[in-house]
Amino acid sequence: MRSKIVAGNWKMNKNLNETKALLEELSGKLPKTEAEVIVAPTFVNLADTARTLESSEIKVAAQNMHFAKSGAYTGEISADMLLNINVDTVIIGHSERRAYFGETDDLLAKKVKAALENNMRVIFCFGEELEERKAGNHFKVVESQLKNGLFDLPADAWQHIVLAYEPVWAIGTGETASPEQAQEMHAFIRKTITEAYNTSIADEVSILYGGSVKPSNANEIFSKPDVDGGLIGGAALKADDFVAIIEAI
Ligand code: PEP
Repeated sequence: MRSKIVAGNWKMNKNLNETKALLEELSGKLPKTEAEVIVAPTFVNLADTARTLESSEIKVAAQNMHFAKSGAYTGEISADMLLNINVDTVIIGHSERRAYFGETDDLLAKKVKAALENNMRVIFCFGEELEERKAGNHFKVVESQLKNGLFDLPADAWQHIVLAYEPVWAIGTGETASPEQAQEMHAFIRKTITEAYNTSIADEVSILYGGSVKPSNANEIFSKPDVDGGLIGGAALKADDFVAIIEAI
């Protein structure tokens, strides 16, 4: 059975003091859940967070990584550096990385490959922009992001992949895909994976929805059969909201 996951992407928010305070509040309020709970703080606070959560139920992820082992890549972080601080999960392909930092499908495919070669788990993000949806191209866009980013992987790599469908028009905008739109796309993603690989990979991969998930809409979105959890931005920055979203799953 595929696992349920609620992951909080803190983006470029929370300094060290604020990170510690949020972790403490979150740990204190964490409900009993079968879902895996993950937080992804900024790089500078990652080691401290991983230490703090060493014996916690809450897992830690990085928001990005470089594909190279090491070398002259100013400002970048390698898989080895993440593993060395006990972080074995990494978000790759977030729409903000694609839009503001020019990360292409090719580059993302290299990052995914590097993460998997280092036995890391990847939360791979993808999703269409508003114009693409309005033009009716959203299925095509998603299919090509999946194909270019992931479909060169061998079948056994998929056990280390989590997918996060995040329509760009719903990220940080307050506008959410309707539960029906999320379900329709998640079902399409499974069909696309079935065609490229097989049903068992398509059935086993967790597909998270991301885009303005909040306590008031989490229940309905998570109730859809192909939605296995959420990647949460803004609402993950407040312990009460994040906890309410975890409770919704
Ligand atoms: C995200 O950035 O992954 C995200 C889903 O953000 P928000 O929840 O704020 O829309």
